[in-house]
Amino acid sequence: MKSHQLYCSACDRQVKVMISEAPLGEHQATLHDDELVCLEIGDHCNGSLCPLGAAEPQAMVSRLIHSGEKIEGLKTVKGHGPACDLEADFILFGKGKASCSVCGTAARWVAEHVEPM
Ligand SMILES: [Zn+2]
Repeated sequence: MKSHQLYCSACDRQVKVMISEAPLGEHQATLHDDELVCLEIGDHCNGSLCPLGAAEPQAMVSRLIHSGEKIEGLKTVKGHGPACDLEADFILFGKGKASCSVCGTAARWVAEHVEPM
């Protein structure tokens, strides 16, 4: 994976993306949309389609998780994965959505504030 800066028309700014490189000599060097992973997906990505990767924000989060890239720059919350049954970081994206960083399952993020213990 190689990092690039691309202009995202949905976010109206430059975002960092990773683009996978096809192994030399095996395939033609054509770039497919599904080889692009946005590293700055977040709660500002409210659109139904990411213009860079031609994917729903949820699909983009899954790609990011499966790419193995670090998610340090993203907003996350700790949660219990409804699908994998693990305590995991959930990547927040869109409006009130979050995806499990372990298995990629999307969930609804309903907490709006913290409270004293
Ligand atoms: Zn999970």
